[in-house]
Amino acid sequence: MAEKQIQCIYGTRDILPGESPIWRRLETAARNVFQRAAYCEIRTPVFENTVLFVKGTGENTDIVQKEMYTFPSGEDATVTLRPEGTPPVVRAFIQHDLHKKQGFWKLYYMGAMFRRERPQKGRQRQFHQIGAEAIGSPSPLLDAEVIGIAASILSEFGLAEFKIKVNCIGCPACRPAFRDALRSFFAARKDSLCDDCKSRMDRNVLRLLDCKNRACKTIADEAPKVADHLCAGCAAHYASTRSGLDILGVEWMESPRLVRGLDYYTRTVFEITHEALGARDAVCGGGRYDNLVEELGGPPLPSVGFAIGAEATLLAWEELNKGTPSPPEQEIEVYVAALNDEARSFCFRVVSELRRKDISADLDYEGRSLKAQMRSANRLNAAFTAVVGETELQNGTVNLKQMSTGDSAQVPVAELADRIRESQLKGAGI
Ligand SMILES: [Zn+2]
Ligand SMILES: [Zn+2]
Repeated sequence: MAEKQIQCIYGTRDILPGESPIWRRLETAARNVFQRAAYCEIRTPVFENTVLFVKGTGENTDIVQKEMYTFPSGEDATVTLRPEGTPPVVRAFIQHDLHKKQGFWKLYYMGAMFRRERPQKGRQRQFHQIGAEAIGSPSPLLDAEVIGIAASILSEFGLAEFKIKVNCIGCPACRPAFRDALRSFFAARKDSLCDDCKSRMDRNVLRLLDCKNRACKTIADEAPKVADHLCAGCAAHYASTRSGLDILGVEWMESPRLVRGLDYYTRTVFEITHEALGARDAVCGGGRYDNLVEELGGPPLPSVGFAIGAEATLLAWEELNKGTPSPPEQEIEVYVAALNDEARSFCFRVVSELRRKDISADLDYEGRSLKAQMRSANRLNAAFTAVVGETELQNGTVNLKQMSTGDSAQVPVAELADRIRESQLKGAGI
């Protein structure tokens, strides 16, 4: 019996040639936006010591409790595939003493993350995030900048109609009192809560505010508001963040029940959502984490960051742009075609010379007919074709044809690159 064909792992997927241009468009938009705002790229390993996420992401989070891929490594150590980007960036920051080189850093990263979740549309076990971490400043204007950058990446990529939701969840000074208020509010209504919420009540009561369960939502609507429990420092910070956002001119809304699922957030939290995604509608999440660097063994450095989910962003874009052809995988300037087998190595030489002169070019490697080669030229959106037959071989020329005008001419190979550049510059025929 034939063996079963090996498949990719459940919850992972291949990004095939037809899909990669839209990924590149998102990544390019991100790099451009980061570049303009002076963020530096940082790349960290995909696996780390497990303790980094237990301490950093937080022991009581869903991620650490049930979603991590953890493997034994050596005696009694374990390693974990990174479920999020912030703890590794902070770990690298501390390990390499970046704060000693300069006090304030703006960093960004892109890469694969791993969580053992139930796979569904737009949500994979290996997924991709584009994130920023601005480390070393308490300025509320920085909160606004970071939110503005996330929004700029999405707009520049081409996603429309997203919503920016912002909240302030307080600090270690004012949050305990708010937690107590929530706990007694929910304890009185415990019987009506979902099982998740019942078990989260002691370890992470803030999460009850953003439970998706309908009954929980109705109860949470009546719950104490964080705004009524902020200390003076948090209230002032929140006010300045809001006016920073107004200066940026981004559209945003206050979302008093937004808490995010991570332990390390202080003060500002935000989320960018998209209606096209249904119930789990976040394309980006982030916030301020003023204590994380210190908690992971570094100096006290207030920080703020975000992560955009690439899969969710692309899914929202697809839902909005149904029927729009995706960008072509490859486009070239010249397709060099052979009329007979003798011309093939000549074509190979022409192509390599064009490429050396920074002109994109391709040829046939399957020994196909001229007609089939012209189909390839069309598929590649070639602006020119250069056909080589017996005459051209003898004269050291090609028959160059500009596809948009239909113009054609015999051109010596030595002049080919210049002729192509010239006609592109003039925007005229050959
Ligand atoms: Zn506070
Ligand atoms: Zn619930």
